Amino acid sequence: MQYQRAEDARRLLHELPKPELHLHLDGSLDAALALELAATRRVDAPRDWAGMRAALVAPERCLDQADLLRAFDLPIALLQDAEALDMAAETLVRAKAGDNVAYLEMRWGPHLHTAKGLSPTQVIRAVAAGARRGATATGIEVRLIVTALRSHSRDENRALAEAAVAAQDVGVVAFDLAGREAAFPDPSTFREAFEIARAGGLAITLHAGEWGGAAQVRRALDVSPARIAHGGVAVDDRALCADLAARRVWLDLCPTSNTQAAIVSGYGDFPLAELHRRGVPVTLNTDDLTVSDVTLSEEYLNVHRRLGLTLPDLIALARSGYDAAFADQETKVRLRNTLDAWLAQRGM
Ligand SMILES: [Zn+2]
Repeated sequence: MQYQRAEDARRLLHELPKPELHLHLDGSLDAALALELAATRRVDAPRDWAGMRAALVAPERCLDQADLLRAFDLPIALLQDAEALDMAAETLVRAKAGDNVAYLEMRWGPHLHTAKGLSPTQVIRAVAAGARRGATATGIEVRLIVTALRSHSRDENRALAEAAVAAQDVGVVAFDLAGREAAFPDPSTFREAFEIARAGGLAITLHAGEWGGAAQVRRALDVSPARIAHGGVAVDDRALCADLAARRVWLDLCPTSNTQAAIVSGYGDFPLAELHRRGVPVTLNTDDLTVSDVTLSEEYLNVHRRLGLTLPDLIALARSGYDAAFADQETKVRLRNTLDAWLAQRGM
């Protein structure tokens, strides 16, 4: 079957059952829900939908990663009680299901949601409850990734790793590190937290390369991750690319978000194809539905139109996402079979 017209590609990529492995709950807060939360929680925020959207969506071009991260202050202020977290998680899962995301790994930093007295464990349980309700209603598979913050203390992140390990019964599958890299460049500060998570049965991932270039991606390998969130700047270091390829460390790439954070000079310079050529395993994701104002279908379409990947390339990328997923083998086989059946139905 030929998909030559632009609308055919758009429709096909919308309908494609996609995996999303790199998505932040706080960066994906629905504007209508944010309005409701601002009114009921008495948070100082815009009171109309357009104003709220403008406050939640980051500029297309920020100065750097730290500048982009300012867009998270408002959603985090709105998500400080269990009901708000539960609703935000359910709303996000439903939105992703509507975009034909078949498998979603949703991540967030529980310690950012404790300002009004919730414990990290209560935060995790609230998000898990909302995510489960959304998953049950829509049929999407959802797993959770607990994110530690580079700006938090060793003790806080060690305790968070323990809370994450104890929450595997509600869908937590991995432990992550995120936050301002320029101010806190060394992930091995939190080696102990990573080791608690690993020993407890969680997969390890971390954000790297949103600041500081390829050296930051090299540094991320110190904690032996299975996957790195971002890391596209590895393309500047051939030996590092060879290392990532040999170790089969996945990069969970987000071109729109990296363009916003001024990591590449423009979307067209995003090195997805070059990383792939060098054998680095990659997946395609959005990072943030609201902050980056992009759905996963739109990100696939952007990569098709602006980076020149073909539709077979994009289908292979979707398949890679299922391979890289932090789900059990049975779930991964089922998801790949669903993709194959979808392709067969369309004679592809
Ligand atoms: Zn991220």
